[in-house]
Amino acid sequence: MKCPMCGQESVTTVDTRNEDDCIIRRKHCLNKECDYRWSTIEIDTSQWYSALQIQEHRKQRGRPRKNDEREPR
Ligand SMILES: [Zn+2]
Repeated sequence: MKCPMCGQESVTTVDTRNEDDCIIRRKHCLNKECDYRWSTIEIDTSQWYSALQIQEHRKQRGRPRKNDEREPR
């Protein structure tokens, strides 16, 4: 996996959490100048598909997305 900010592959997983129907992983870029943290979610493809449909619905209704969950440094 590459860091979405700087593109380097020096990325570590700092935390893995099992939720009801998905796995949330906290990632951390090891590039000192970047130091970006973010999370990834692992879900079933079937759930992914319904998640996509929900997103489409929101887009069509013109609602702003609120999935910007960057942590303050
Ligand atoms: Zn980075």
